[in-house]
Amino acid sequence: MTEQRGADGFGALGLDPALVSAAASLGYEEPTAIQREAIPPLLLGRDVLGQAATGTGKTAAFALPLLHRIGKSDGAQRRVRGLVLVPTRELAVQVAEAVHKYGRLLDVAVLPIYGGQSVGQQLRTLKRGVDVVVATPGRALDHIRRGTLDLSGVEVLVLDEADEMLDMGFAEELEAIVDTLPEERQTALFSATVAPRIHSISKRYLREPVRVTIANETTAAGKKPRVREVAYVVQRAYKVAALARVIDMESPTSAIIFCRTRTEVDELSESLGARGYQAEAIHGGLSQEQRDRVLRRFREGVSEILVATDVAARGLDIEHLSHVVNYDVPSSPDAYVHRVGRTGRAGREGVAITLTEAREHRLLRNIEQHTKRKISVESVPTAHDLRARRLELTSAALEEALDSGGLEKYRTVVEALGATRDILDIAAAAVKLADQSRDGSDKDEPDIPAIAVLPPVLTPKGARTNAAQRPARRTNSEDMTKIWIGLGRSARVGPGDLVGAIANEARINSREIGAIDIADNFSIVEVSSSKAAAVIAALRGKSIRGKKVSIRLDR
Ligand code: AMP
Repeated sequence: MTEQRGADGFGALGLDPALVSAAASLGYEEPTAIQREAIPPLLLGRDVLGQAATGTGKTAAFALPLLHRIGKSDGAQRRVRGLVLVPTRELAVQVAEAVHKYGRLLDVAVLPIYGGQSVGQQLRTLKRGVDVVVATPGRALDHIRRGTLDLSGVEVLVLDEADEMLDMGFAEELEAIVDTLPEERQTALFSATVAPRIHSISKRYLREPVRVTIANETTAAGKKPRVREVAYVVQRAYKVAALARVIDMESPTSAIIFCRTRTEVDELSESLGARGYQAEAIHGGLSQEQRDRVLRRFREGVSEILVATDVAARGLDIEHLSHVVNYDVPSSPDAYVHRVGRTGRAGREGVAITLTEAREHRLLRNIEQHTKRKISVESVPTAHDLRARRLELTSAALEEALDSGGLEKYRTVVEALGATRDILDIAAAAVKLADQSRDGSDKDEPDIPAIAVLPPVLTPKGARTNAAQRPARRTNSEDMTKIWIGLGRSARVGPGDLVGAIANEARINSREIGAIDIADNFSIVEVSSSKAAAVIAALRGKSIRGKKVSIRLDR
């Protein structure tokens, strides 16, 4: 599992090294199913009819071979050699960006062309010369008719989301455009469904196409796992916030969150860390030693969340997970089945959570068809849901305290208060304190707006809110331990008080103190793991700002 591995995956397909390294630099560890199937025939110059929805990695499946064919661009004499037709302006922009990213090292110039955008700008860029045009059919045809788009040098045509283009009534435009292209060209057609009308345009525009579909692996026979499968629809910008809420609601004991790329794994584990979660990254870029350390900590329960790529997770020998989270919809139903199969093992219960963007709905439906199981689409928990959940946990903790006894010395307090107060009120006040001390939120915590307007930094937990609003600080969690101290903002405790108390009482260097999160009623301080026990012993029973300190390891 070295740096080489990701490169090998794409390299083995026969792609230009510049493209292999572009894929590696984007954190792609290996080709997705549609890429594995479509790239080799496209590199051989064959036409391809591909069945794949958004989210499967289909853009790279056609863009990489297209760029391979164009090769290093001759900047001085650019002419349009690749044409990609897409149904919408959003897709035009997205695909053009992808082509630009993949083709960066080849100096390929790409231009998105779509309606609603100033024609002047498009004309200027076309005059300068471009290698690849990504266009919506209507606007492409406008340019052809005005004589401003010369497609006589097109070697590769891609029809992306062909079914959508037909649905949008672009059949005639497509025909008019294809008529202007050289006969001798390569054509690839991608569509989420291959209905008869797709067959008919494929017959017209493609020559002996190789048909590629995401392979359907038969589901393993055997006992049905007891897995609750849930999806939440979220906008990309709010994904981390939504994920944080879902984690808070679910309180997983051991979870893997799957991301598509190494870069995403690193970014997400860092965002989660900054929000106070014990999350660690695992991907193909780690050394064996680093992997072992991360895994050991996960097995021992020091970290409760692993953020992983599929490749890194493949070799993981982990008995059972309480939760599997797909940070994006997996690129194929098989990938979903593999990931989700890691929870609900041996008849235990498990939860599979998928975060999805609205545009990925088709992929989700494919998965349901493949697994023959329903994925329940639910709303992201609200602040109110989280408060209710917290109260449930408080109530369970109280029952446990009632069962475990040892309440005599507290009864005297209740008796004393009971002389002047209603017993139920006393109990309610005690529940309130217990509830608030769970995560430091107070009763006036403002409600958080629905997820669609939720600012990305908001998260409902008191301490974690603070963590999220601080600039993310890279905590080297490998050798730091979190300590819980029962004093917070309401005791007017600030970071200086905590650092001062720890450094003086435990006689440790302030450099051995890491992130500090201060909530209303408690604080979490990271200290070097080797010093954690000494810090707890040294501070126990001491005072900070005149208040007695209660201190323990943070769970
Ligand atoms: P698409 O289906 O083309 O819209 O791609 C969906 C997402 O998958 C995009 O964010 C791509 O950057 C990402 N992606 C494409 N290929 C790979 C790969 N081989 N490994 C990881 N992520 C990928």
